[in-house]
Parts: sequence; structure tokens; C-alpha cells
Amino acid sequence: MTEDELQLLRAALRARERRIADLERALHRQGMYDPLTGLPNRELLLDRLDHALAMALRHPSVTAVIQIDVDRFGRLNDWLGSEGGDAALVELSRRLRAVLRPGDTLARVGADEFAVLCVQLESERAVHDVATRLLTALDEPMSTGDREFVLSVSAGVALAHDGHRRPGDLLADANSALDRAKRRGGMRHEIFDAEMRSRLVDRLQIENELRTAVERDELRLEYQPIIGLREGRIVGVEALVRWDHPRLGLVGPDQFVDIAEESGLIRRVGAWVLRHAAAEVAALRAEDPSTRELELAVNLSARQLSRPDTLIATVTEVLEETGLPPHLLALEITESALVDEGHEEAAEEGLAQLRALGVRLVLDDFGTGYASLAQLKRLRFDAIKVDRSFVASLGLADEGEDALLVAAIIHMATALGLTVVAEGVESSRQLRRLSALRCAQGQGYHFARPLAPGRLREMLAAPPASWSQA
Ligand code: C2E
Ligand code: MG
Ligand code: MG
Repeated sequence: MTEDELQLLRAALRARERRIADLERALHRQGMYDPLTGLPNRELLLDRLDHALAMALRHPSVTAVIQIDVDRFGRLNDWLGSEGGDAALVELSRRLRAVLRPGDTLARVGADEFAVLCVQLESERAVHDVATRLLTALDEPMSTGDREFVLSVSAGVALAHDGHRRPGDLLADANSALDRAKRRGGMRHEIFDAEMRSRLVDRLQIENELRTAVERDELRLEYQPIIGLREGRIVGVEALVRWDHPRLGLVGPDQFVDIAEESGLIRRVGAWVLRHAAAEVAALRAEDPSTRELELAVNLSARQLSRPDTLIATVTEVLEETGLPPHLLALEITESALVDEGHEEAAEEGLAQLRALGVRLVLDDFGTGYASLAQLKRLRFDAIKVDRSFVASLGLADEGEDALLVAAIIHMATALGLTVVAEGVESSRQLRRLSALRCAQGQGYHFARPLAPGRLREMLAAPPASWSQA
């Protein structure tokens, strides 16, 4: 082979190596980037995060991850169709990218989930600013075809500190903060901090103990009377669960019901509540004929409604076991259960099946969510409980808008044939006002606190005389 031939061969080999390297890079790129938005994917984000955490050890500065989730994307996707949904995600990523600094990484880490890695920020405060910019980047409506809509996102922020040796930990913390933002209704950001971390540990512990609480017979029920305002007497009771915790004492539902929901334990707790409450009221009816029309209200969680089959089976069984007439069982459902993302249809189907059993449906905490009276009528609810936040200012000199709202709600609901129950009646001035507005029923500390079964019996036997003279 001559020297020239050799040169040529070398050049050809080099060109070939370059081609291979290019191809490899392209292939690599494909594995590291999201094809729809062209953004880095989760792998690449983790890789960069790993690098950023190593850098942060040497050059002190703030590193943060912001996890982002589109609020109710499932619904939007159904509405726009998957092409429209894709277009929305592309536009979303374009807008988010536009408010970030060049050194930050925006990645698509799930179908409607994104994450931002912010490096070398000057302060923790700066992270707030970035998160706020991200949320407000979406204020302007978007459109695809002839449809216009506003996308909103929730964000969870985690700041890197010494504890975060592994990128996955930081992402997990950002996710916890995101969950909290979502629970608080979306369109906001939450920062993960040490306090949240310890709460997380507490939660895990409570969840563990809750698993055995049913078997160990640690759950208790209290019953809060519901008063017919015209009659001035007890027309029903609401069963409210408590947990007699061996170490913590009596723990209220606010401390454990949402943990039970998230972990799926609520189905077991819910079934226990139904069974025990129905048995108690059945016993009352047997003891005292004057309680034969006493109604029992039991709270259901969205999680129970999302699996209607189990729920229907439990309700059917409990009614049979206790002989409680179905029309005396009222199931209370909060508005969030009706709009539980991805479960709306299951929930509607569940409601229809419950109706078919002859039980009553009550919307709890009305006014705190988005349910409309027309929707409730369509879903064939029997009653609404007006949230106590609306009742609070009734009868005060500056009762203002709330009183107008309550008046309008009572008026419309009654016209639609829905029974109205006012929650949180704490004073006689509220009671007088509600009676004047012809609210049918009330419940609250003014009448009675939630009572242990023994105290409930006493009150049923000798109700205070003052209720009737509202
Ligand atoms: P809820 O269904 O709206 O129940 C009414 C809550 O308001 C009860 O709190 C009750 O004690 C309280 N309350 C009653 N009258 C007044 C008043 O005049 N003023 C004030 N400030 N509060 C009043 P509790 O027992 O802590 O229950 C809280 C929530 O936990 C309930 O709200 C319900 O959503 C949930 N919950 C309770 N038991 C169960 C259950 O067995 N299953 C499910 N899924 N949730 C339950
Ligand atoms: Mg309730
Ligand atoms: Mg309520």
C-alpha cells in the first residue's frame, strides 16, 4: 500500500468514526429527550441533578427542584382530544421554558408532569420567585383550534441540603410538596422543608398504626344530633369517627382520615363506621319507639365512592344485618368526591347504585367546592349541608355577603326539592336567622357536640326545651 493510499484509508476511517459518533449522539439524545416537547426526560434530569448536587458541595449556592403537575389534565385531555392535549403540553413547555434562566433545566418527567432544576441560585427567596414566574406564565389563555382554555399547574419545591446525597431524594421531597399543593386546591406552590419532612415521618407512622387500629378495636363513634328547626327536635344524628389511640388518646378525624384515604385504608375504616353506626341506631330503635324515624348520617370518602362495587356490597350487607330501613340512612359526600379526577364516572355510577338501594344522598360542606345545585339535582341528591364557614357570620351586624349567599342557597335548594341543613350552628342568633330564612335543619355546638352513645341516649330521652323557641 502506498503512502497516499494509506492516507486515504485513514481519512475514510476517521470520517466513518465521526459518522458513528454522530449516530450514537443522536441515539443517546433520543433516549434522553422527550419526543413530544423536545425537553430533557427524567433520566437526563437525574443526571444533571446528580452533577448539580456534586457541584453544590464545592461551591455553596442554592440548588432546587420544582416539580410541576398540570391541574386536572385528564379532563382537559378528554375535552380537547389527545392531539389537542399534546398541543397544550407543547405550548405549556414553551411558556415555562421562556421564564427560566438558560442554566436551568426544564424536563418532562411524566405525561403531565414536569420538573425544573434550578442551579446556583443566590438565595432561597429566588426559588419562590422562579416558582411564581412559572405559575403566572400560564395566566394568559391558550387555544387550539377554536377552543380556548386556561391551564393551571401546581408546583412543589424542594431545596437541596446536606441530606440530599441522592438526586432521587430531592425529587421525592419535591413530590411531597407537590402533593400538599394539590391537596390545597392546586394553582399554587409549596416548599418542602424540615417541618414537612417530620410530618411525613409522622404520617408514615400513623399510617402503620392505623392498619391495625380496626383489628385492635381502637375506633370509636360519636353522634352529633341534627335538629329539625321547625319542630325543634332531633331528626337525625351524624356518626363521626374518632381513633382511641393507645399513646395519643382520642384523635379526631382531621388527623387521620386523609391519611386513611391516601393509603386506601379508608375502605376498611369506612366499612367499620357504617356497620357500627347502623348497629347502634338499630339498637336505639329497638329500645325506644320514639326514635323509629331517626335518620343516621354517615360520611363517605371519595375513595370509597371510586370503587362503588365494594361500597354497594357493604351498604347492602349492613342494611340487611341491622334491619335499618334504607330511607333512614343518609350518606354524606363532599364536593371533592364528585370531581375526583379520573373517577367522576365511577362516582356517578356509584351514586346511581346507592340511590337504587333507597338510601339518601347528602352533599356535605356545600359551598367549599364547585358543585352546582343543578348538578346535585341531576345526580338526585336529597339534601345539602351548608358549610359552617357560611353560617359563622349569620345574625351579626356585619353579616354581609354570607347571609345573602345562605339565603339564596336555601331559597334555590328548597325550590329544587333539596333539604337544607346548616352546619356549625353555634349561637341562638345564628339559629334565629336560619329559622327566619326557613332553613329546614341545623347541626352544631349550639344544640349539641358530637356525643358518645350513652350521652346521645340521654339527650334523646330528655331534649332541652330551648330549641323550639328559636
Ligand atoms: P363533617 O362531616 O362536616 O362533620 C362536621 C364536623 O364539624 C365535625 O368535626 C363536628 O364535630 C364539627 N362541628 C359540628 N358542629 C360544630 C360547630 O358548631 N362548630 C364547629 N366549629 N364545628 C362543629 P369532626 O368530628 O372533627 O369531623 C371532621 C370531618 O371528618 C367531618 O366533617 C368529616 O368530613 C370527616 N369524618 C368524620 N367521620 C368520618 C367518617 O366516618 N368517614 C369519613 N370518610 N370522614 C369522616
Ligand atoms: Mg359530614
Ligand atoms: Mg360538613
